[in-house]
Amino acid sequence: MMKTSKKESTNSGSRDDNPDANRAEESELCPGFQDVDAFVKYGLGAVLSATKASAGLPQAGDEYDFYRSFPGFQEFCESQGDKLLHCMSQIMQHHGCRSHIRDRNKLTGLEERFDLVVDSNDVILERAGILLDEADGVNRTQNPVMPAGFQPPKIVVSSWNRKGSSSGSRSETFRLLHAKNVARPQLKFKEKVDNSNTPFVPKIFIKPNALKPLPSYFSNKQIRKERPEDLDVPAALADFIHQQRTQEHVEDMFAHPYQYELDHLTIPEKLLSKPEPQMYKPMAETKLSFIDSLEELVALNGKLCQLPEFAVDLEHHSYRSFLGITCLMQISTREEDFIIDTLELRGEMHILNEAFTDPTIVKVFHGADSDIEWLQRDFGLYVVNLFDTHQASRALNLARHSLDHLLKNFCNVNSDKRYQLADWRIRPLPEEMIEYARADTHYLLYIYDCMRAQLLESNHGQPGLLQCVWNKSKDVSLKKYVKPIFTEESYLELQRKQKRSFNTQQLTTFRLLYAWRDKLARQEDESTGYVLPTHMMIKISEELPKEPQGIIACCNPVPPLVRQQVNELHLLVQQGREMPLLKAEMAAQKKKGLTTIKKAEVPLFGPHDTSRGSESGHPQLVADEVPVKQGVLFSEEDYKMDVDEQKISSLLAPAKITLFQELETPAGQRSLSVAQTKARSIIESFENPFRMYLPSSGAHVNKNAKFDPSSKIFEISKRWKLQSAEQQQKEMEVKKKSKEEAKQKARKLSEERTKAKQSYQESLRNIASVRQQAANSKDGGRKKARSGCEDGETTPKPSKKLMKSAEKSQKTEPPSEETFKPFDYAQSDLKVFDGSKAKDNTQFDPNRQAQDFRKKKFPQGQKNNLSSGNRSMSYMKGKSERGFRHNWPKR
Ligand code: AMP
Ligand code: MN
Ligand code: ZN
Repeated sequence: MMKTSKKESTNSGSRDDNPDANRAEESELCPGFQDVDAFVKYGLGAVLSATKASAGLPQAGDEYDFYRSFPGFQEFCESQGDKLLHCMSQIMQHHGCRSHIRDRNKLTGLEERFDLVVDSNDVILERAGILLDEADGVNRTQNPVMPAGFQPPKIVVSSWNRKGSSSGSRSETFRLLHAKNVARPQLKFKEKVDNSNTPFVPKIFIKPNALKPLPSYFSNKQIRKERPEDLDVPAALADFIHQQRTQEHVEDMFAHPYQYELDHLTIPEKLLSKPEPQMYKPMAETKLSFIDSLEELVALNGKLCQLPEFAVDLEHHSYRSFLGITCLMQISTREEDFIIDTLELRGEMHILNEAFTDPTIVKVFHGADSDIEWLQRDFGLYVVNLFDTHQASRALNLARHSLDHLLKNFCNVNSDKRYQLADWRIRPLPEEMIEYARADTHYLLYIYDCMRAQLLESNHGQPGLLQCVWNKSKDVSLKKYVKPIFTEESYLELQRKQKRSFNTQQLTTFRLLYAWRDKLARQEDESTGYVLPTHMMIKISEELPKEPQGIIACCNPVPPLVRQQVNELHLLVQQGREMPLLKAEMAAQKKKGLTTIKKAEVPLFGPHDTSRGSESGHPQLVADEVPVKQGVLFSEEDYKMDVDEQKISSLLAPAKITLFQELETPAGQRSLSVAQTKARSIIESFENPFRMYLPSSGAHVNKNAKFDPSSKIFEISKRWKLQSAEQQQKEMEVKKKSKEEAKQKARKLSEERTKAKQSYQESLRNIASVRQQAANSKDGGRKKARSGCEDGETTPKPSKKLMKSAEKSQKTEPPSEETFKPFDYAQSDLKVFDGSKAKDNTQFDPNRQAQDFRKKKFPQGQKNNLSSGNRSMSYMKGKSERGFRHNWPKR
């Protein structure tokens, strides 16, 4: 095969030049064929007929089993199978791939063989690609993979972002400057990135220019040292421990450290009166300093502290990192430009707080919304006394509010935004990128002068409008960084934004893929867009490919992690396909009355991070009712059960161990203060770590159970599949009328809850056996079943309804402690965090991955202290094969 393409390439590449010479070569290389075309024609014909023949074979399953009962058929299959394996083996060997595919003695499972084939396909296709490129004149081998951090940046002319003809004097083409193998800057960070599914905690520990001292939590070195990311335990356990440690400090942790100072900031008269714009120095005559050492940074800070104002901008990278990384800070004074390597000085940047929070020094930014968040997230930097020229542009009602426009307008400078999307992690920075970055702040102080003058002018000399810009800027500086929190419902929000209507199978797949993607992105510190772009995720969900190859076909280009984990993904899709088919769940959900609570903060990364922007607003869904329907697993119809709050709360199993004890009144019954809302939002982002130990007879139902053949729910789910639609319809109608019955059920449930508690206690005592069972129950067939433990179910969505009703059906059999099956770790992979639950069932629900679970050793001390906690923490590191996975923060 490779030979073919090589010859073909050679041929097509030089055909025009010297056809005769080529023909002679071909006849040599292609024995039995006149030329390559003839060979290809023959080859394609053979492939086609083979494909047809294979499609004509009896289908796997009953049909195949039936045929196989005939010895003749069996023999034929085996001999043909051997022949094919031999052939494949040869091809693989030819390409230097591992090829023990034929070796029947080796106990290689089908899965491993499949992996071999996939790997070999990759190798072969990759080579074909390279050769085709070569034929096209692109010689990839000239760009060898260099050791990390040692490759010159490469300029790639990309066609997709071509500038229009109206563009400035420079090149007509945007250049997306990027280097192929940029060293991951994360590896050098002294403080590892915290991608845990826990809320962001300010990094500040010294507070210069304080009017109100920093809460003790932040200044206490001891507490600060105990960061979740430094604990030598699995991430989820670390998060849990962290949460317990910090619960007293919730209010402090979620307040803006400079809230008080900003509230008491008054803009001096001088800044509200008309300035005389001070012309910028020509860039060529301006000193530029590149700051990448602590000494230089300290000196710069000292310099800045002496000034009345300076301009700031940041450059950011978001593709190869989960949260994003601030790569560069540009600062311009009236006299000088500075470029700070924030990858190098990440841990030291906070010293600039002295100048940045000094209320007597104006910090001029353009469009600081993202910058303010990035400064907090990466450096613990805050800004007191901000002037945002973007806000000024809005107040002035300018035609456009971009920096380009301001530069053109006020400085007659044609800016060049070609590098906006460059990979700012590249080091050393190419000259052109430095120049670009520098221009972002160089003119800003002059623009600041001009805009202030204009703001006064346009308001007849009155400071009102200018004051308004100062206020708006202050609001920007009051923004707080909020980490993206993954909840069981996150996927619904994305689905809603994408305006997709999925059937049950598609929606399930979408949900599973979403969870997989989020988990992997956090684990590998990649953006979700890098792991699996949303449009591909939608395509897979819509098409539900039967084969792993089909998943690959949905992706172009195939994301590396998708290629690597295609079998995993295939299992997820299979899980989705196993759902009973009902059409568009989206409508059902709308009707269900899911309300999105407006979050205190929107977890936003950057204005342009479209890969995530679409999903950043993870919804928090609350139920205004709890479905207490029985027997109907899915419904296209909306049930409004007449269950009062009191009854509902009895349906919701409270966490066995609550992390935050408070709030007697049910949610929503009283209005909460800002602080309480904040506190609640953190509380709600945790789940009970012991959830998986709750017996399925309680109000909790493990979603996994549905996919666990040993579980009741699985049976029910299966059985339900066989039910006719009409039957369900009838049942639904009957159930609709049985409000009374539902109330009874509710009461019953609360009784069961008591029982559940007992059995939970029992299970705590049997921890060893739980683990044992978990270890034993690894089911080869579907080892990656969804692991989302369902909690108290405050959110009525169809799939949860299924759980609910299934759970109730179970009640017909008295729950016994003997029959209680612990959660099957082996099935758990995509355990998700849930941040949207009512207080009563706050859960801290760790991600879990089964494979490594048994290997993982907890430090003995931890084990003793947190024995029950440990048990629940089955979170495991992924089994990613990627080269840099070892570099991912050990959490
Ligand atoms: P700027 O303030 O224009 O220098 O932009 C700061 C950072 O925001 C850049 O380094 C990019 O990471 C990001 N950014 C700006 N504009 C875009 C865009 N149009 N698309 C994606 N990212 C952008
Ligand atoms: Mn900017
Ligand atoms: Zn910039």
